[in-house]
This record gives sequence, structure tokens and C-alpha cells, in this order.
Amino acid sequence: MANPLLDRALPEELAECGQAFELQGKIEDFRRLIEITEADLKSVAEHRRPREWRAAAVNIRLGFTWADARREIPALEGEISTTIVAVCQRCLEPFDLPLEMTLKMLLLKSADATTVQAGFEIWEVKGETVRPLDIVEDALIMALPLSAVHESRDLCGPLAEKVADDNKETVRPFAELRSQMNKLNG
Ligand SMILES: [Zn+2]
Repeated sequence: MANPLLDRALPEELAECGQAFELQGKIEDFRRLIEITEADLKSVAEHRRPREWRAAAVNIRLGFTWADARREIPALEGEISTTIVAVCQRCLEPFDLPLEMTLKMLLLKSADATTVQAGFEIWEVKGETVRPLDIVEDALIMALPLSAVHESRDLCGPLAEKVADDNKETVRPFAELRSQMNKLNG
């Protein structure tokens, strides 16, 4: 069966026929998301990296519609949920990070102020057609936290304190003074 996530179509066409579907994908369907996560996991020793994260389910429900009565602005509403692996920035250990999001987007070729609608974000259509997978992937990437951390410090691994110390180190109040002294002595 065809995967509606992969079908390219005009946004107007999707809105007009009220294209809607619900399906379960996998993290491995999203190439850029994989790249980001793999880069993140490079800081984790190889034997400590989780193995099966690419197979985690991504639950997707999408529905296309018109945002306006004049049927000029295609819109997309939906829900996405999954669990991605992230590296805690406090203890540098990988952990499962649940992501859940609600989409309300206008699909626009160019965003001008008159088309902005309350509660909707704007997804810029590049070219003529859209591929639902790309929209879902963008939404997932935007939902990634800039700095992932375990929900509570109690869940952090033993490195947490060392990382915290290292961060303190970067302030190093005496470092500058020391380098000045070295210069004077040199
Ligand atoms: Zn942690």
C-alpha cells in the first residue's frame, strides 16, 4: 500500500480533497532527524549508545483542510508523538525523550501578514508541491530541545557532578589573572 507520507501533492489539492490519514512510521523514516541524533550520540561512548532507537514508532495523524472560507489558504492540522533518544547535557548519558506535538499550520508559498491566522504556524512551501513526511520531519526537529536534560537530577548518571564542575571551570576566575602573570614573567 502506498504511504501517504511520501506522496507529493499540491497543498491546494490536499486541502480540497480533505486528505486525512493516521499511521505509524518509524524514526528511521526521517533522515535528517537520524543525522541530528547520531551527531548527538557521538559524545556517548559507543558501548553505551542505545541500539534500537531508530525503530521507535512515530504516531502520526494528519488532516488537510482550508483555513479560510474562500478556500485560498491550505492548512494542516494533526498530532505527532514519538520517543527519541537524546543526550542529557547534565550527565552526558543518553535517555528516552518523549515528544508530543499538535500541528496547526498554514501551507504558504510566501508568508505575508494578511494571511497570518491566530493559533496557526506557517510552513513555507518550497516549490509547487509538498510531501507530508517533510512537514512532519520539520515539526519533529523543531520540537527537539536545544539542551536536553533528564527530567530530574535524580535520574542523572554519575558524570552529572563532574559536568557541572567542568562548566564552572569554564568561568575560571583566576585563569585570566594567571595568564597575565605568565606574560609578565615571560
Ligand atoms: Zn542527566
